[in-house]
Amino acid sequence: MSVHAMNVAYAPGPDALATEDCPLCDGSRSTLLHRVTLKSEDIARTFELRKCQDCELVFVDPRLSDSELVKLYDEDFYFSTQWPYQTLASWVIDFIQTSRRHRIEQHVRSGRLLDIGSGDGRFVHHMAANGWDATGIDFSPAARDFASQFSSRARFLVGSLEDYDFRPGRLDLITLWQVLEHIGEPRPLLHRCHDLLDRGGVLVVSVPNIEGFSSQLTGERWWGLDVPRHLVHYSPGTLRRALDQAGFRDIRIRHQLLQYDPYALLHSSLDWVFTQRHFLSDLAKGHVPSDMDARDYAYNLGVLLLLGPMLTPVCVMTATASACLGRGGFIEAFARRD
Ligand SMILES: [Zn+2]
Repeated sequence: MSVHAMNVAYAPGPDALATEDCPLCDGSRSTLLHRVTLKSEDIARTFELRKCQDCELVFVDPRLSDSELVKLYDEDFYFSTQWPYQTLASWVIDFIQTSRRHRIEQHVRSGRLLDIGSGDGRFVHHMAANGWDATGIDFSPAARDFASQFSSRARFLVGSLEDYDFRPGRLDLITLWQVLEHIGEPRPLLHRCHDLLDRGGVLVVSVPNIEGFSSQLTGERWWGLDVPRHLVHYSPGTLRRALDQAGFRDIRIRHQLLQYDPYALLHSSLDWVFTQRHFLSDLAKGHVPSDMDARDYAYNLGVLLLLGPMLTPVCVMTATASACLGRGGFIEAFARRD
């Protein structure tokens, strides 16, 4: 999705009523955190981020219908075949999958895995190659087709959990990598995950942290907001509450160090200076909008070349310090079924 022309007004205070109740506690009282107006080809509309006064969950209001949302998930959302420095990108991706597996195997050693929202399938392939009975599910047929082209023992399904007759209590591991924030009604999904896991099975959930330092520092331009695709914004407290409500125990929250936060902080910081939002990620994917005029392009590129080298080490240090202080921009929860 493109949020290039995103104009934002910061307007705190409960001066407007939510049209949606809180998706975690059904509370109807909420406070306005941000108001975000999108003006792009894909969507031109104002959204609010509201914080529930009862349980502190932050959610988007109004929430687009499923049929509207699905149009905002094009193939580029899942995978780009035009990343520069393919060798470096492959090395980074392999490192990420290996470190994920090592963290997981501290909690559960092997068995049956279901990765929900499996996207390009790299994690599922990595786990299958390391002895796991691994299945990925994603609602995008394009994602399934992309993931299935690599030979592996991994399986890939299209659709949602409701489309398949999974037997309860059969899984040892369920993973939701940067997925739960896209789910408008998290409770049914988390309960279903709990039912599908065997006793002792582990659920892993990673999400952006709305209470992280990056979010606080860059406000309404924070990369992790991704309005309106991210429907719910978690903190360590609200993620723990959601998992606890679904019946999970032994919940451990980990603040991620380097996987997303330094880049997200750099991206969000530069978005305050660029004339065109997301210029950095558009440039990296070779998708700079064709309607950007030469002066804007030169200005944005100049800003990037000037500020990028200075900001990058600052963002790495800030993100690392944030995680160490329990204010990381992204969090990862490990939770167990009793
Ligand atoms: Zn609530």
